[in-house]
Amino acid sequence: MNHNTHLHAFLIALLLCAAWAVVGWDSLAEPPETTLSGFAEKYGLELVSRPGNPGVELSGKGLTVRLAPGMKAVSVNGKLHKLSQAPRMSGGVMLVPGELYSITDGLRPARGKYAAVVIDAGHGGYDTGAVANGAIEKDIVLDIGRRVRDILVRNRIKVVMTREDDTFIELTKRSEIANETPGAVFVSIHANSAGEVASCEEIDGIETFVLTDSISDLTRANKAASEYALHENTAGGSRKMKAEKAKKTIANLSREARSESRVLAEAVQKKLTSNLGESDRGVKEKNLSVLRETYFGPAILTEVGFLTNRKSARELNSAAYRQKTAQAIADGIISFLSRP
Ligand SMILES: [Zn+2]
Repeated sequence: MNHNTHLHAFLIALLLCAAWAVVGWDSLAEPPETTLSGFAEKYGLELVSRPGNPGVELSGKGLTVRLAPGMKAVSVNGKLHKLSQAPRMSGGVMLVPGELYSITDGLRPARGKYAAVVIDAGHGGYDTGAVANGAIEKDIVLDIGRRVRDILVRNRIKVVMTREDDTFIELTKRSEIANETPGAVFVSIHANSAGEVASCEEIDGIETFVLTDSISDLTRANKAASEYALHENTAGGSRKMKAEKAKKTIANLSREARSESRVLAEAVQKKLTSNLGESDRGVKEKNLSVLRETYFGPAILTEVGFLTNRKSARELNSAAYRQKTAQAIADGIISFLSRP
């Protein structure tokens, strides 16, 4: 944080306090207009400072709301909504229209211990992924990813996308996004390729991957501890002891995440194969970068079909089939999150 950021945060805090003093929201169920602070208070949101951004971001408990005075567009968990009336400044206080409550009402974090789902559409930009039978992997998986996001958001689940458009994102960046999203479940979406030879054209079906057991949790814990400097935050003991403690904690987290990944993978794989009637190649283990580098929560990678198979390529090139695929993935995620 630099000086300007501090000042920015301070001014907004001041503004929120002033607003709070003017109007409370408790007496009104859905007022025509309310203060930003009242709105934030109701949902337990905190102001996140974004220097250089004219708007404000309120975040917390699986809900992120971005808005700006004078702008009717408001982003709720990454989805844009249009208000009939824009938020406005009045006497140094930001007022937001009451209809914002009906948009955010009931929007809650992903259930249970997970707070968000990170959707990772594979490839992007110059990295096309598999290309066969007129089907391009990067486009197909982005479209499916967006559809999964829309379904999850409608189900009041917070979603973070590693890419929203046709851009190239490094594999490490994708895991980093998952690692930096508290309570994240990571789902990477890909389409398969069986190779160039003619005999490969027959290969078909859906498979889902979890990280192989041959990669040790301790190795990953060491990496996570150094990358995220977690020992700085652990209280008590020498620096070396703290580091050891942090590594152990991460190793335990990884172990738990492994078994949870398996449950998530089975849930998604089951929905995909049964809803789409495709052959089940099963849940498999593989040493995949995005799974290996995602340290703190369940992580899976699903291959929704073989583009080298003519029938699958044709299906995946159809929007209706991609919607069915997205619905199956979302159903799998929701059933995983909804476990008692
Ligand atoms: Zn791929």
